Amino acid sequence: MVKIFIDPGHGGNDPGASANGLLEKDITLDIALQLKSILESEYKNTDVRLSRTNDQTKSLTERTNEANRWNADYLLSIHINAGGGEGFESYIWNGAYRSKSNTDKLRSVIHQANVEQLRWRDRGQKEANFHMLRESSMPAALTENGFIDNVVEAKKMKTDTWVKKVAQAHATGLQNALKLDKKPTKKDVFYRVVCGSFQDLNNAKERMNVLSKHGYDSFVDKYKMKNKIYYRVVVGSFQDKKNANDRMNQLKKKGFDAFIDAVKP
Ligand SMILES: [Zn+2]
Repeated sequence: MVKIFIDPGHGGNDPGASANGLLEKDITLDIALQLKSILESEYKNTDVRLSRTNDQTKSLTERTNEANRWNADYLLSIHINAGGGEGFESYIWNGAYRSKSNTDKLRSVIHQANVEQLRWRDRGQKEANFHMLRESSMPAALTENGFIDNVVEAKKMKTDTWVKKVAQAHATGLQNALKLDKKPTKKDVFYRVVCGSFQDLNNAKERMNVLSKHGYDSFVDKYKMKNKIYYRVVVGSFQDKKNANDRMNQLKKKGFDAFIDAVKP
């Protein structure tokens, strides 16, 4: 299980930066919630915790204490920049510590995914003495996702599409950095039409011959059930269940016994 602690910057009494009708604390929360949902629905063995899930006041110490107590594998703090500028930058702690090269390597992977997917102007991979980075006992990075006081960037920040894109880029970055495994999606499931299951391989081969005379290509799939090996004759493998059904019904009309087996990779 990979434990990822996500920190939406600011919250409650602390709005963070504000401009163009936007508050930093709202945008960071939107991104973090979206990121949590992507990570939990699309990745295997991934446990995600947020430092806050609503507009809540929470000190920096409380946040790092929580991450440390939970024993997170990675901490990611999400922020929006201000002060006149454009683009994306990321931070790791500027101190001297043993795991620094690893922390920098992981951050670099996350940084790249963001710059690529959002086509950000790249302001660089930086270091700073930020509490969230210094006081966390696991590798940590902080991202600054555009400038709230930049009219063009602020306009994008107001759209759901932008929030989703930023969350997706962070998810891809975390996937690559922490080697997260993707869950198989519905699209990856395919439907095999099985026409005959035999304990004797010769019988399976004979069935293949008969099917071939009827114009069907087939192959034998070794299948283990209750410690017994079966040789299944597969007549077509389809992504679309309807196509598998059609094939099964054709075979049944010709007097074969057939069934469908859904296979996940
Ligand atoms: Zn901030």
